[in-house]
Amino acid sequence: LRAPQHPYTWGLLSSVPSLHGDADADLVPIPGNPPSLINLPSGCAFHPRCRWAGVNGDRSRTEVPELREAGVPGHLVACHLPAGDRERIYRNEVAQVGVAR
Ligand code: SF4
Repeated sequence: LRAPQHPYTWGLLSSVPSLHGDADADLVPIPGNPPSLINLPSGCAFHPRCRWAGVNGDRSRTEVPELREAGVPGHLVACHLPAGDRERIYRNEVAQVGVAR
């Protein structure tokens, strides 16, 4: 929770009320609906709902991301975004304003 690495996790965290923020602030839901488990989307199954799916061209739509070490022993992430991009996006776009859609 201190260093979330995946856009889906960013979306989950952005949809949780904060005890420390603006009490009137709207929650930010993950857009769309979960996919059918018997007919998953191509590539990354989260790509139809991921705000950053187009960052690496068509890769998220065509190629399943492999699980890779996520910087903390025992923690893995499956995302085509390079680690540096994920850190920058989380720091500048998600953690600042809670927007992950
Ligand atoms: S692989 Fe692409 S679509 Fe999947 S979570 Fe990462 S950026 Fe989003």
